[in-house]
Amino acid sequence: MEGPSLVIATEEFAPYFGKKPSKITGTAKLPFTDSRKQKLLRVASWGKHFLLVFERTTLRIHFLMFGSYRINNPRENRIPKLTLKFGKDEIHFYSCAIRVLEQPIEEIYDWTIDIMSPKWSARKALKHIQAKPKEMVCDVLMDQNIFAGLGNIIKNEVLFRVRLHPKARVGDLSLDMQKALVRDARAYSLLFYKWKKINQLKRHWQIFRKKTCPRCLTPVIKEPTGKGQRLSHYCESCQLLEVHRPKNRVLRNRDLPVHQLS
Ligand SMILES: [Zn+2]
Repeated sequence: MEGPSLVIATEEFAPYFGKKPSKITGTAKLPFTDSRKQKLLRVASWGKHFLLVFERTTLRIHFLMFGSYRINNPRENRIPKLTLKFGKDEIHFYSCAIRVLEQPIEEIYDWTIDIMSPKWSARKALKHIQAKPKEMVCDVLMDQNIFAGLGNIIKNEVLFRVRLHPKARVGDLSLDMQKALVRDARAYSLLFYKWKKINQLKRHWQIFRKKTCPRCLTPVIKEPTGKGQRLSHYCESCQLLEVHRPKNRVLRNRDLPVHQLS
């Protein structure tokens, strides 16, 4: 689950704030007896971490690649790693990694690198990517120490929107393009949140899981890229490997061949 989906999850948990779970079960080995005596104060998300903040401890849930949660309506034939019961409601967590944090979360997490946080800093993200000129943009976008919460869907869509090839290296981009990349990582994450909330995320995908490029109708290439070897979906003709432009000149439609214009 990517950052925006976790923000939506935090909103769904609001009815349980201030309540003590009546029962905690699951296959995860945790000091549950302790959590059971504590009120759930709030939940928060940082990047891909979902944080259940109890009075004295915090449960950190990482949904990894295939994790999920359900409020009531449990998944068939799946054993939850953790189930919290609040009154009549049961919250199930599946295929996730769970850890107990004893320290207050504000002391652990840097919210300025969380793409969904109001404290997110574009300036910091720009500085971080510029420190890795040899790295491919597909890797820096997925780097959780730079863009915490950014996942594979956002990566693919952002690279298409700014017309960058996943294997483009940060050092081969103009300053304007580096800035555009950082800006759009944030902008698209906020759109992802907005669309997902009204169940319209998939219909807005432009390149992810598409067969042809919506701009030039070239077949979309799907291949694992970068250090991370995560699947990239891209158009070889619209998404550029290098963007050298004089300072203060933004890449515009007119910089692309006429047949590629939408
Ligand atoms: Zn194209």
